[in-house]
Amino acid sequence: MKADVDKDTCIGCGLCPSIAPDVFDMQDDGKAGVIADPVPNDSEDSAKEAEENCPVNAINVE
Ligand code: SF4
Repeated sequence: MKADVDKDTCIGCGLCPSIAPDVFDMQDDGKAGVIADPVPNDSEDSAKEAEENCPVNAINVE
């Protein structure tokens, strides 16, 4: 499973690293970034939850 953040769409709300801290972090540009590639098996559920809850649908997990 691979996670991706669309930096052009992300509004830097900070939600995804709070849901899946092993997969996302907030980076120097103020946007979220992916820190786990591939997504570890035990973080897949939280990564999907972050995808579903991102307010601007900037996350793709597949
Ligand atoms: S939840 Fe969405 S908008 Fe918020 S920081 Fe993560 S990618 Fe950006």
